[in-house]
Order: sequence, then C-alpha cells, then structure tokens
Amino acid sequence: MFDRTTYSRNYMREHPQKRTPEQKQQRAIGAQKREKEYYATLRWNSHLKKKFGITADQYNRLLAAQGGHCVFCHRIKEENGNRLAVDHDKQTNRVRGILCLVHNAALGALGDNEIGIRKALEYVKED
Ligand SMILES: [Zn+2]
Repeated sequence: MFDRTTYSRNYMREHPQKRTPEQKQQRAIGAQKREKEYYATLRWNSHLKKKFGITADQYNRLLAAQGGHCVFCHRIKEENGNRLAVDHDKQTNRVRGILCLVHNAALGALGDNEIGIRKALEYVKED
C-alpha cells in the first residue's frame, strides 16, 4: 500500500537540497527538542538511581499503584509541570511513595517520623 508520509519522508531524505531554509530550521528545532528531552530523561533516571536507588520504571509503577497522584492530595504534577517527588525514609533510604512537594516538605518539617507526626496530631486535636 502506498504510504504518502513514508514516501515523502524518504524523498526528502534522499533530496535534502529540496528543503527550504524554513523546513531545515524546523527540523533543527525538532531535533534540538528531542535531544533536550532525551538528556532530561537520562538526568532524571540517573537522579532516581543515585538518590533513591530506583529506576524510572519503578517510579512510574509506584505512582500508578497509588492512583497516579500524590498520596495525600490529588495532584498529578507540580504546578510548574515537574514530576512529583519521591518520598523516602532518610534513616533507612526506603522509598515510601510519591508525593507533591508540599506534602513531601510537610513530612520533612514534622521530622519525617512518626513521633513528629504524632506531636502535630496531638497539637491540632480538639479537646
Ligand atoms: Zn500532595
């Protein structure tokens, strides 16, 4: 079957001189964008492995297992578009889950442990 897109792509590959300067510029921009995304993914994978000992696949499975959002709220991404943070026990390095920055920082501010959280719970409890 004739595939116009493939034919066109192959023709232009074989006749690059036929591309207009605008087309060349668009292709270069597309290539830069793909390269930037590629290296960002590499950096993210390296960060996850080095800091938490997990792969991007494990991150994604963990996030999916908790419904695709922060454990405490329904945020699926940060407002700036960044991925949610990995929450881990700083003493044991065990990854507990994926949280938004607000809730990850809140746990940290409470000492990142049960004692701190219980103190906060006692404090807010109404008598
Ligand atoms: Zn949250």
